[in-house]
Amino acid sequence: MTEETTSGGETGWICNLCKVPLEVQTIRLQYSRTIFALHLPACPRCGMILIAEELATGKMAEAEQILEDK
Ligand SMILES: [Zn+2]
Repeated sequence: MTEETTSGGETGWICNLCKVPLEVQTIRLQYSRTIFALHLPACPRCGMILIAEELATGKMAEAEQILEDK
């Protein structure tokens, strides 16, 4: 019986180095004095974090708006 891995947090991304599926992990980013917790695909073996540029810049733009509103 072969069981397909369906552990939670599968992203469909594969680490280029380890050839293992990336898992969604909580990553903390600091921007200005604010820390954001993002859920990003990361390699469980080597720790490589995949940051989609659009995602990062989108979050940063959001953050700037929040900061400016204050
Ligand atoms: Zn890796």
